[in-house]
Amino acid sequence: MREHNAKVQEKVQHFKCFIHNMRNLHKHLRSACIKQPKGMDRLLYCKKLATAIRTRVRLELTRLRKLLRGDELYLARAREAVTNVLECFSGSHDSCKHKSVVCTAHLKGHSTRYLPYGKNVVLSAADKQKLQKVLDKYCGVQQLRDTVQLHNTNRCENMHSRLFSYAPKSMVWKRSFTALCYSATLGASVGRGLSLLQLAGRCGINIEASDPMYRYAMFTQNIARYHSDRKQKHEYKTSRYLSHRKRANRAVLSQSLYKAPSKVSKEHDYGINLGN
Ligand SMILES: [Zn+2]
Repeated sequence: MREHNAKVQEKVQHFKCFIHNMRNLHKHLRSACIKQPKGMDRLLYCKKLATAIRTRVRLELTRLRKLLRGDELYLARAREAVTNVLECFSGSHDSCKHKSVVCTAHLKGHSTRYLPYGKNVVLSAADKQKLQKVLDKYCGVQQLRDTVQLHNTNRCENMHSRLFSYAPKSMVWKRSFTALCYSATLGASVGRGLSLLQLAGRCGINIEASDPMYRYAMFTQNIARYHSDRKQKHEYKTSRYLSHRKRANRAVLSQSLYKAPSKVSKEHDYGINLGN
């Protein structure tokens, strides 16, 4: 890119993927060795805390980006918001009014449901330092500047996965490889059915609207559109969220006393699940 910039005398900027950065932040927060409150599972607690922090940072950044047009303004506010997260999570909301656009502590109906186990986080100075270090590494000044537009690589990844399934690497030396790549990219941009028709036209096959091939192509096109519309719907997103949450809590639920054949209820018979 540096060479390209020098040649074209233009400044093409290089951005990094916002979602990947958040994913890395989550991963490193989770593995930061912090102490859990008494009587809680450490791994589970770290996981919940990391998720809470990641969600908070993501919300702050996306909301600030919507509010502020200028990059410099956004960067200054974003940095403040990131440094304020741990303070806010520990229950001191003094600077939230100026620094946060997410915190709802000033509202009457405020609850700490978004925090791990619904309680304010109690951190020792050393733990706070560890977490802040990770936050500074992934949401420092330079990292925020790299992801300033909050771009993601979703479309690019979508394209690659399509490309590698239609034209796998084992086909590189086959004669049809270029055509397969072309077909995959065309399919990604205009849809599977239309790409089929366009390719057929290029190959000199004349297809009329009454032909079975035409009807089949339009049928696949409509089905694909139906599914992509369905995925945009609120119901779909809610059900995905619920099933994800169910999976995330599976470790906790497996030890629940209220679940039929549970190890704990077998060891300690509290008068429930007597059938086992
Ligand atoms: Zn707050």
